Amino acid sequence: MTSYLFEPAPVPSLPIVGDERRYPVARIFCVGRNYEDHAREMGHVVDREKPFYFSKSATTLRQSGDAIPYPPGTTNYHFEFELVIALGAPALRIVPQDALEAVFGYACGLDMTRRDLQLSERAKQRPWTLGKDVEGSAPTSPIMPVSRIGHPDHAGIRLSQNGTPRQTSDISQMVWSAPEIISHLSGFYRLGPGDLIFTGTPAGVGPVAPGDRLEGEIDGIGALTTLIGPAE
Ligand code: MN
Repeated sequence: MTSYLFEPAPVPSLPIVGDERRYPVARIFCVGRNYEDHAREMGHVVDREKPFYFSKSATTLRQSGDAIPYPPGTTNYHFEFELVIALGAPALRIVPQDALEAVFGYACGLDMTRRDLQLSERAKQRPWTLGKDVEGSAPTSPIMPVSRIGHPDHAGIRLSQNGTPRQTSDISQMVWSAPEIISHLSGFYRLGPGDLIFTGTPAGVGPVAPGDRLEGEIDGIGALTTLIGPAE
């Protein structure tokens, strides 16, 4: 039996709708600028040439209903509400026509962002790690299996903050579709079961404050409630 110096951290995981078992998470990939209106509000035009990515540690996952900390090192912590793809099969250099076969299910999630740090990192052409890979920054709903809903290509997506609507769009407005993202990313990684892909956020992102309540939903896929805890 393997002996560890200290107790290993628990495997990050999410509940699955209609299944007692949990979905163990391996990696979290995130797509940047995948809705034109959000790209514009961030001062960019969409690059149709290829998608780009950043990642979050799997340990940043939180569940619906959890309170997440207002993290240190920022005065501008932002919500970004997104469709999440949960993979259930291997995919390496998969073509878009076959890419959905690798999907186990879908969820909705928040890509919480230290916007001040992301923007200063971006301006200096540095990686976005401090802006994006933040403890507690990936609250995600239970995973809705493909076996129950198939592969939705349009669905309303909306987020409210303390009851006030902030983000409203449709996942059909994504610049890169789920099969296009999986196909492109599988040219660089051996994707597989446990990998999550956050697919980008529509316009309307904004700052949170301790005590805020974020409520998001994607029609037919899931709902997420996240509370912002005290500043750390
Ligand atoms: Mn995002």
